[in-house]
This record gives sequence, structure tokens and C-alpha cells, in this order.
Amino acid sequence: MTRLALLGRDGVILESREGGICSLEDMQIIPGSLEAVARLNHAGYRVAVASNQPALQEGGLDIDTLNAVHARLNELLTRAGGHLDALLVCPHGPKARCGCHKPDTGLFEEIAHRLDLSLEGVPVFGDDSADMDAAHRLRARPFLLATGNGEQTHRSYPHLALYDDLTHAVSSLLDPQ
Ligand SMILES: [Zn+2]
Repeated sequence: MTRLALLGRDGVILESREGGICSLEDMQIIPGSLEAVARLNHAGYRVAVASNQPALQEGGLDIDTLNAVHARLNELLTRAGGHLDALLVCPHGPKARCGCHKPDTGLFEEIAHRLDLSLEGVPVFGDDSADMDAAHRLRARPFLLATGNGEQTHRSYPHLALYDDLTHAVSSLLDPQ
């Protein structure tokens, strides 16, 4: 059975940054996150990233820079022995009613459609309420990470386990105690 894992980008793989990651210089890998993606790949998961990037519409980020960041991310992932099966972004602001801005579920549904996989029970690794709410709406399985905004998010979701980072959450998924 092919399985799917959904990840946020900023605060999960890349260090999150106020205003977004708007240049290659802004891009900083969260330690261990690339290896954690590779571990999911090797365990048979298709791994997809869904990311809100409102700076695209707000003007702080252009598409060439976004593509350069993603090319660099893919290059670093390849070196770590991993890969992404999909990487989708919402370029809209939170008030756009576009259907793809998390916690709306459009990006996750598009990924599931492209990969022809179900979303039910799928692990969603994220650091903010948008990820947790989208996971809840889809009856997916949220994994809240303490990286990025995770510690703050946890105050609103005290019933969820809080994992140190993607490495710990992936270990919990693959090696349940
Ligand atoms: Zn959108």
C-alpha cells in the first residue's frame, strides 16, 4: 500500500521567518529535517509539501526566487538521499477565499488527486494552526512540531502531542512505542 505524508515547509523543513523566505539567503534548513524526509521516502511514503506563501501576492516574493529556493531545497534533499513527490504553494493572502490557503484544504486535496492517494488518516506534519486545522478537516493525523511557531500553536491545541522537530515526529510515526 502506498502511503502519503504531508508536510508544511516553513517551520518544518526550513526555519520560518517573519514575512516569509524571500531570498536564498533567508533559507535555513532545520537540522535533521532533510534526513527525516529521506527516512519517510525509504519507509515507502510519498512525501508532499503544501505551503502558504502569501508574500507572492503581497509582493515580497517573486516566482523566480521561490523557484530558486525550491531548486536549492530539492538539491539539498537529493544529497540527503530524499525527495519530494509534490511541492505546492498557495500564493494568496488569508482573505482571498481561494480554497488553497491553509487551513483550507485545497492544496492537500490537489496533492492527493495528483498522487491518486486518500487523505484519511494521513500524517500531517506542521507547526501552525493552519496545518492542524486542515488536518482536522480532512480527518488526517496531525503531528505538531515545536519548531517554527509550534510552541505557540501548542497553547491553542494542548490536547495534541508536541514533537521536538520533524525527526522526532517521523520516528514516532515509523517506530510507535
Ligand atoms: Zn490560495
